[in-house]
Amino acid sequence: MRNTLWVLLVCGLLAAACATEETVTPDGSKAFVGATLFDGTGSDPISNAVIVVRDGRIVAVGAADAVEIPAGAERVDIAGKTVIPGLINTHGHVSDVLGLEGGHYNEENLLRQLGLYARYGVTAVNSLGGDGEEAVRLRDAEDASLDRARITVAGAVVIGESVEEVLAAVEANASMGVDFIKIRVDDNLGASTKMTPELYAAVIEAAHAKGLKVASHLFYLEDAKGLLEAGTDFVAHSIRDLDVDDEVISMMKDKNVCYCPTLTREVSTYVYEDVPDFFEDPFFLTDADPAVLEQLKDPERMQAVKDSPAPAAYKKALEVAMANLKKVADGGATIAFGTDTGPAGRFQGYFEHMELDMMAEAGLTPKQIIMSATGDAAQCLGFTDIGTLEAGKWADFIVLDDDPLDDIKNLHSIDSVWIAGNRVPNDT
Ligand SMILES: [Zn+2]
Repeated sequence: MRNTLWVLLVCGLLAAACATEETVTPDGSKAFVGATLFDGTGSDPISNAVIVVRDGRIVAVGAADAVEIPAGAERVDIAGKTVIPGLINTHGHVSDVLGLEGGHYNEENLLRQLGLYARYGVTAVNSLGGDGEEAVRLRDAEDASLDRARITVAGAVVIGESVEEVLAAVEANASMGVDFIKIRVDDNLGASTKMTPELYAAVIEAAHAKGLKVASHLFYLEDAKGLLEAGTDFVAHSIRDLDVDDEVISMMKDKNVCYCPTLTREVSTYVYEDVPDFFEDPFFLTDADPAVLEQLKDPERMQAVKDSPAPAAYKKALEVAMANLKKVADGGATIAFGTDTGPAGRFQGYFEHMELDMMAEAGLTPKQIIMSATGDAAQCLGFTDIGTLEAGKWADFIVLDDDPLDDIKNLHSIDSVWIAGNRVPNDT
């Protein structure tokens, strides 16, 4: 009796509060509650965190006692889980490959790849070459309804024999609306001719004049120095011929240029000489096409890989790359997570996790690795509204069963992936 009276009295005094309790209508916002949050800024994780999302973006985030949940928010209980920002692959390819075959550059195939990346927690892909107008249109259509990975593009890799030719290629990419310019300075282990310093300097100058950054494919230490001197904005592969030295690390630091390891690119050159162990990994098999695996297991195909000279050379290159990654990280240059997935046999989504695991083998800590794929990746590419989970940013994140700061392999324990606050569908 006394209790009833007390409730009536309170509701009488605070009529509005009691009324909204019963008649609350959803306001379109979502509140993700209860998880441990690593926000990608480098700050310590927050336990029992709340992330409030509206119209695809984070409106409030922090510890439960510091964040007000709107009355009309849909609550998503993720207690006991860990949340990190979605992974950004700074060097991928959303390509024309379907199965092991090129020639399928169309919107449907691009969307298939962006869905695949997303299911593995890769919520943004910087596609460095081979991109056409279809990709530019997809990028420009990204809004609060998005539930596949974001894409940025470099267009066609800039090639040419003369300054006129390379400048025309830069122009064509710029008018298509690319985000980056990509060049290749490599002789493919002596099998082809390298782009000359004169040509790459011309490309870099022209790209900068248009406000475009230049990402450089390279292999040799000497070329890395030349490209850094000429003003490249991004080192798109590991240096793989020699140990890195203090000079090149200092150049990257002074010029604020990030270093993208792409270790799994090397793996892909030799791993199909046998049936790879990962062909039995359920985390791989959930999204693998059995027909493609059969093709890769073909004995003649495996023998051809064994017989070609490149795999042995790239195995050695990988050892150099692994050691250099640790040296560059210890030297204080910024590492940008990237894989070079997309070409045949470099499985999008799964190879990103293989790369993260290999970065740990190279000696990086889980925190360093996660930063390289989130907050640091965004900074390296100049992206200001993804990469960290802060108010105003897109709500792109991964919910994990186990904490990846304990062990990077816990990134395999994906509960769900969210892009612009929308759950990425599980179907393939
Ligand atoms: Zn590439």
